[in-house]
Amino acid sequence: MVYDVIIIGGGPAGLSAGLYAGRGMLKTLLIEKAQYGGQAATTNEIDNYPGAVLDETGPSLIEKMYKQAERFGVVFTSDTIKDVELEGDVKIIKGEKEKYKAKTVIIATGAFPRQLGCEGEEEFIGKGVSYCATCDAAFFEELEVYIVGGGDSAVQEGLFIARFARKITFIQNLPELTAAKSLQEKVFNDPKFNFVYNSVVEELYGEDGLLDTIVIKDGVTGLQTEFNADKDDGTFGLFVFIGLVPHTKIFEDIIEMDRGYIITDENMRTNIQGVYAVGDCRSKPLRQVVTAAADGAIAAMDAERYLID
Ligand SMILES: Cc1cc2nc3c(=O)[nH]c(=O)nc-3n(C[C@H](O)[C@H](O)[C@H](O)COP(=O)(O)OP(=O)(O)OC[C@H]3O[C@@H](n4cnc5c(N)ncnc54)[C@H](O)[C@@H]3O)c2cc1C
Repeated sequence: MVYDVIIIGGGPAGLSAGLYAGRGMLKTLLIEKAQYGGQAATTNEIDNYPGAVLDETGPSLIEKMYKQAERFGVVFTSDTIKDVELEGDVKIIKGEKEKYKAKTVIIATGAFPRQLGCEGEEEFIGKGVSYCATCDAAFFEELEVYIVGGGDSAVQEGLFIARFARKITFIQNLPELTAAKSLQEKVFNDPKFNFVYNSVVEELYGEDGLLDTIVIKDGVTGLQTEFNADKDDGTFGLFVFIGLVPHTKIFEDIIEMDRGYIITDENMRTNIQGVYAVGDCRSKPLRQVVTAAADGAIAAMDAERYLID
């Protein structure tokens, strides 16, 4: 079976590409290695996607996108793509489970959260350290939470975590938050939130397999400070929102990139004929659901024209 289009990645960009390709009557296969929705499925607060009103969450929006693509005949499969052969008219996509073939490929592999890289981080993932508020905030009901970061995602997720946590402290490496002013206002006006600026996390440790200590360093004074868990709590949460790393390693040395992000033209074409890149994995100025969805639509429409020519 040679598909017209194979889409690698089932986040907003891939699902939107699927919708447009399916609606264009192209034989379309979408391959996802984990959960549909990618990063968007990990947030509870999506209030800037047009039409997403107050009670819209990442998972609820994604469920609609998935059903819409499915309605137009997109075939979905679960596999992790490990290797690709993209030159030539028929592209070969090699997964852990199977080999797939298509005339065009849309890369929608997105990005994943950047880690702190400090001592103790790996050891306490899932035992205090988290990168996903929707997944883990409820575990910290009535506990203290530290959030590393100060951009839109950090503040937005902090507002969600505040539904559960007793007290929240932002640890930001810059002298101020960089989130949108409207978001900043919300945390500055709520006494639950505290702020530590110019500081980075140096080390994490704890006893009995639970995180209970953070060591931070002030980048201006060089002073180290230790935050310990409240004695009655015994632990606290540490959520990390400090940017992204693109999921593009398998395309290295094959497709042109800029610091790991795939370079495309305005039609989402890469340097290889019939191969497109969409969403957060490509070099672009704004990484959001709305731009991911737009990229997917543009690529699928261009793939349709490419297949006719
Ligand atoms: C905490 C958080 C909050 C956010 N809040 C908002 C918000 O409020 N509004 C907004 O507009 N945006 C928000 N964003 C950003 C938004 O989620 C992303 O811009 C969007 O999800 C990008 O979509 P994408 O499809 O390009 O990539 P992703 O969402 O990253 O999806 C990529 C998919 O590809 C899959 N994949 C990767 N590699 C492979 C492989 N080798 N084989 C098979 N599958 C693969 C992944 O598993 C993933 O499901 C937020 C992001 C985060 C992390």
